[in-house]
Amino acid sequence: MKPTRSTLSATLRAGGRLAVMNRLSLREQTGFLIGLCLLLGGAWLGILAVGGEHAPKPQPWWMAIVVAGLFVAGELLMLHVVYRREALTLTLTEVPTALALMFLDFRVALVARLVASAVVYFVIIRKQFVKNVFNLGLHAFSLAVGYVVLTLLYDHQGWTEVTFVALFSAVLVVTLVDSVLVIAVIALFEGGFVAKLRGELRGTVPSIVITSITATVTAALAVAWPLLAISLLVPILGVWGVLRSHARNSQRLSDLVELHGLAASLGVSLQRGEIAEVAVREAHRLLRANRVQLIQVDPQTGTTEVIGAEGESIVGLPQHRDDERWCSALDGGASLLPAEAIDTDRSLGSNLIVAPVRDGEQLVAILVAAERAGVMDGFDEADLVRAGTIADRLALALRNAALHEQIQHEAWHDSLTGLPNRIQFERTIDEVLDEGDPTGSIGLLMLGVDRFREVNSTLGHQTGDRVLLELVNRLASGLQPGDVLARLAGDEFGVLIRVDGDEQLLETAHRLVQLAERRLALDEFEVVVTLSVGAVICPDQVSNAAMMLRRADIAMHTAKVAHSSVELYRNDIDRRTPERLSMLGDLRMALEHSHLEVNFQPKVDLASGRVVGAEALVRWNHPQRGMVPPVEFVTLAENTGLITMLTDQVLRKCVSTIRLLNDLGHHLDVSLNLSAIDLLDEKLVGRVERILAENGVPADQLTLEITESALLADGPRSLETAEGLRRLGAHLSIDDFGTGFSSFSYLRVLPASELKVDQSFVTNMLSDARDEVIVRSTIDLGHNLGLQVVAEGVEDMATLERLRVLGCDLVQGFGIAKPMPLDRLLVFLNDGARESSRTAAHPAVASPFQPRVVSAS
Ligand code: C2E
Ligand code: CA
Ligand code: CA
Repeated sequence: MKPTRSTLSATLRAGGRLAVMNRLSLREQTGFLIGLCLLLGGAWLGILAVGGEHAPKPQPWWMAIVVAGLFVAGELLMLHVVYRREALTLTLTEVPTALALMFLDFRVALVARLVASAVVYFVIIRKQFVKNVFNLGLHAFSLAVGYVVLTLLYDHQGWTEVTFVALFSAVLVVTLVDSVLVIAVIALFEGGFVAKLRGELRGTVPSIVITSITATVTAALAVAWPLLAISLLVPILGVWGVLRSHARNSQRLSDLVELHGLAASLGVSLQRGEIAEVAVREAHRLLRANRVQLIQVDPQTGTTEVIGAEGESIVGLPQHRDDERWCSALDGGASLLPAEAIDTDRSLGSNLIVAPVRDGEQLVAILVAAERAGVMDGFDEADLVRAGTIADRLALALRNAALHEQIQHEAWHDSLTGLPNRIQFERTIDEVLDEGDPTGSIGLLMLGVDRFREVNSTLGHQTGDRVLLELVNRLASGLQPGDVLARLAGDEFGVLIRVDGDEQLLETAHRLVQLAERRLALDEFEVVVTLSVGAVICPDQVSNAAMMLRRADIAMHTAKVAHSSVELYRNDIDRRTPERLSMLGDLRMALEHSHLEVNFQPKVDLASGRVVGAEALVRWNHPQRGMVPPVEFVTLAENTGLITMLTDQVLRKCVSTIRLLNDLGHHLDVSLNLSAIDLLDEKLVGRVERILAENGVPADQLTLEITESALLADGPRSLETAEGLRRLGAHLSIDDFGTGFSSFSYLRVLPASELKVDQSFVTNMLSDARDEVIVRSTIDLGHNLGLQVVAEGVEDMATLERLRVLGCDLVQGFGIAKPMPLDRLLVFLNDGARESSRTAAHPAVASPFQPRVVSAS
């Protein structure tokens, strides 16, 4: 049961003290029993040994009142001296002790002593109940021992030297027995009796001797002339006052030194964990607390977490800053909380210190100290002040640590997305690799956003940032909790995951690619983000971050070049990296020696079944490597400035082919692929015009295929080139429609006459309903804009028939013919012409054009 505040205060009320007995810790119960035994033992010893014997100088009842009064004063004028980790208490009670021994019967003295102490402990100081009982027992017992000593030494010869020695010895013994018993009880719990006793005696014997002599002299004077004794009290009190303020000052000084040291040691580290460690260690020492905990408070949720502990842990502390068991301890500065407030652990001592640590108004941590070293003493006001100071210093140190963490976070994280950056990612990879977890492999994915530069340059950086943020959301949604997502560069991301093997890694990679590819609407734009992903798995292959990243990078570039979305690193792709460099030299040579060839892929008109055009596709037969895929060397040419030369050669071949076909009676349109860089070339229009003129070819037989994204790269300039080509009379075709960024406002201003539905939609349109919807709406869109629509990637008759139903104008694809060299094209055209003239006589045949597969070049 958790005590509420009201039941708590009820149990703490003086009347409820005994009820608390069964809630006391073992230590307190023992202390209570010892105190009781000492009390009864002292009474028994005194009465039995001393009996009713009269004191050396019996005095009437008023003397008992004077003695009791002096006991009260003596107890109150205590001097606290901290020695080692123990608080020693020196009192002025030797004077009333000497007077009692001299003038009072033991029973009267015992009553005076107990009444005075009880008044002080229970009424004035109100210390802890158990401790008070123990102290009463202690005083009763030591007083009895003093009477025994006096009885043994006193010779009943009136006031002589013997009386003086006997009295002095008795007073000394009373104080010594007090001290020794306290030490013995401490040692009972903590051990080390001899060492503690030695320390205690070394520290206090001189002062005990002096106070005992002073007390004896006072008593002697009182025997002669009581008033004189009272006047002697004046200098005694004076000296005592001086001592007391000195003790206070030196305590304050040592506190200051300690706290200064604390500030220094807390300031050494900027690491939250280390600061917590120092703080709890210092609190343990300065507050003499056996158990200390530093609890961090989450500013948002208010939940707590232990970040540093010294000694046994304090079980059962509230887990939330709003927990009512904290009572109001978190409202102001450091405060005391009764141990009962934290109900679960009964060995905490009498009270706890709870010191809130604040950064400005914000509660950031709580320092809790429990179980004060020493007998059954709880923490006092002086400890509270110290705890408050520790909390203040701690707040400063934690603030510095937070600032440092923030700076470090900024250095290790990307400011836009908040993701770890490359440096942090590398560290994480190395850490994970060092752990050497044998339960699975570690997979690394490197994700590159395709053509991100174009997004930035055409749509602006702000839009680019929005695209990235949305992408990060999507990627994060496709990852598991332990996976690490990082931003490695502007358009590159890394993912570190634990996987069972290749398959699982590739599965994740494909999932991420799919998530990224969902259309993203940005005001008037729609963006499709495509990713190229390189995957690498560890530990079968490499074992450090740099190597893994390099390999993932190579795999990613392979995926980019091959348009394959995802590539797993294999040794053979790596071997191709230096090859790429040598390929560049070879490409330049091939261009200089006009070794590139051009193949033509027919375009068929669905209405008439006739071949009405052909697309020119460049081919490179490398002397050693064989056929190199165009995407590979076209990209290389684009990246190295060779593209102008390449386009120029293909253009010449196209135009001369049109010329030849015209001469042979085949009036075909020929399409040429332009790259984004060609569109930025101001001289392109002039060159096209010149080559057409040189060959006597009308411009309207030439179609230039431009991708959407190529048009968007540096929009105005590309648009100007496109308009120049249109003015010449050439046709413009929008290639790969649907895969890039569709800007309908651009489509309207672009002087295009043809739209090519990308083959990725066409190829699977019969099996994938969504693809078919895209194809159908693209055809409608094209027609609405007055464009002729071409479907590319038509691989079979069924697709062709479906496209016809959908109203597509032209088709192109392996199902009709693969790209072929010019001579084969001529054969194809002649065969097709014969076939179509034959089928024309049989209108019942559904498809006037009989597609045939011509083997690929
Ligand atoms: P593209 O402009 O989209 O060209 C169509 C690609 O699809 C060609 O690949 C063609 O062989 C292939 N293709 C045609 N029908 C089918 C089909 O039914 N199924 C499948 N799966 N594929 C089909 P190719 O020749 O490998 O060219 C790839 C890309 O390289 C072209 O894509 C184009 O972007 C670029 N390219 C080719 N030649 C040139 C050129 O002379 N200049 C420039 N700048 N780029 C070129
Ligand atoms: Ca094309
Ligand atoms: Ca295409």
